[in-house]
Amino acid sequence: MLAHCAVHVEHSRGRRFLEPHHPYRNDFQRDRDRVIHARAFRRLEAKTQVFTRRYSDHFRNRLTHTLEVTQISRTIAGALALNSDLAEVLALVHDIGHPPFGHAGEKALDTAMREQGLSFDHNLHALRIVEDFEQRYAAFRGLNLTFEVREGIIKHSHDYSANEHPDLSEYLLEKRPPLEAQLIDLADEIAYNTADLDDGYEAHLLSLDEIREGVPAFERFFREVQQIYPDAPDKLKFNEALRRVLNRFVDDLIRNTQKRVEAAGIRTLEDVRNHPERLAAFSPTVESERKQSKNFLYENLYFSPALAEEKDDAERVVTELFAFWMAHPESLPHNYQQKAKEESLPRIICDYIAGMTDHFILEQYEKHCGS
Ligand code: MG
Repeated sequence: MLAHCAVHVEHSRGRRFLEPHHPYRNDFQRDRDRVIHARAFRRLEAKTQVFTRRYSDHFRNRLTHTLEVTQISRTIAGALALNSDLAEVLALVHDIGHPPFGHAGEKALDTAMREQGLSFDHNLHALRIVEDFEQRYAAFRGLNLTFEVREGIIKHSHDYSANEHPDLSEYLLEKRPPLEAQLIDLADEIAYNTADLDDGYEAHLLSLDEIREGVPAFERFFREVQQIYPDAPDKLKFNEALRRVLNRFVDDLIRNTQKRVEAAGIRTLEDVRNHPERLAAFSPTVESERKQSKNFLYENLYFSPALAEEKDDAERVVTELFAFWMAHPESLPHNYQQKAKEESLPRIICDYIAGMTDHFILEQYEKHCGS
């Protein structure tokens, strides 16, 4: 039984192009399957999350990160009696617009675009992928996803102003997204705040003592675990503490969101949309724990000298390739040259680069910019 304020698939605003119903999959389940079968989805496997393959094959890449966000999102949606099919597809698609080389690649691409008076935004790029670039159907371009999935792609992580984005006016920018979309961003936070501690520890970039000192939520559970398993190896104590942190964040998000929905007197999906702020949220205590953990990761991992060299390399590769194709558009693949007749050259180059995997962009760099 779905909550009254959940998105009910039978009330979906539907697809741009009408399609016959499927005999045993509903529209959100079909959207999930369309995302999984998309080329851009498969490429997530070869895109950096935080660590490149140089470190280890055990670490998260964009695809395995995406699967972790999906698992967490389904749990939260299920516990809140929200539409877990919709939450699942939104989680699967949430990072599909990310360029190669993680955050460094995104920053470099945005900088290159800003020099052309434009910008790069991974949510808007994700929409371009599912609306246009993916070509699987003879009847239309893109994946022809339902309105609620396209809306969630745009609105899950932040609000776009209707004035600045007249092109997005169909997505009800003045209203909040459904709870299924709201929870994705927080599930993403839970997933990477815990996973990056795990990978950072495994990579020996973060020590157990540093984590215990810098992340109080972890320290509390670590002490508890030491009482229960005094003789267990450190790594297993670490795992036991970390999964308790993850569980605490998920549990708090479920309870606190439920509480906020009740306190605000939310009955219907329209109430969720019309509420002045997002309802999916951690309690103030856990919100501050999340921030502590995130700040710790920024200070000790994301901006660590150990990762700096790779980030500089990533930025150089993106920046130089972008400049190369600006100067030599004739070296772009034929279909991108054709597209550049309809849209600005910088946008087309940005699309091309954003779609690349880490190793494909390195190959291109060797070919065009290598000495
Ligand atoms: Mg993510």
